[in-house]
Amino acid sequence: MMQIPCICCGPRDESEFVCGGTSHMRRPELGESDAAWGDYLFFRDNPKGLHLERWRHVNGCGVWFNVARNTVSHEVTAVYAMTDAPPTGSVPTASVPPTGSSS
Ligand SMILES: [Zn+2]
Repeated sequence: MMQIPCICCGPRDESEFVCGGTSHMRRPELGESDAAWGDYLFFRDNPKGLHLERWRHVNGCGVWFNVARNTVSHEVTAVYAMTDAPPTGSVPTASVPPTGSSS
């Protein structure tokens, strides 16, 4: 089972947490296009590798926090408060095109 280090309680089993999805998403302004709102509401990246996510320690202290996690190995490389920027070195690099693409 994956261990997630809560910023208050330390490492705990994944079953004590709920994932809130991608971190640091920019909400469109009210006047922005339907396409921008549709993209914000319905589409998410599904990266292979480093991903910044929001997690809540729902069966513990209840705190929301950010996690930098590798989606392949489940290695957590950083944990930080919701109001903080991602630590240096934990920001995902540009997505790599799938192998076999012809461009
Ligand atoms: Zn906690």
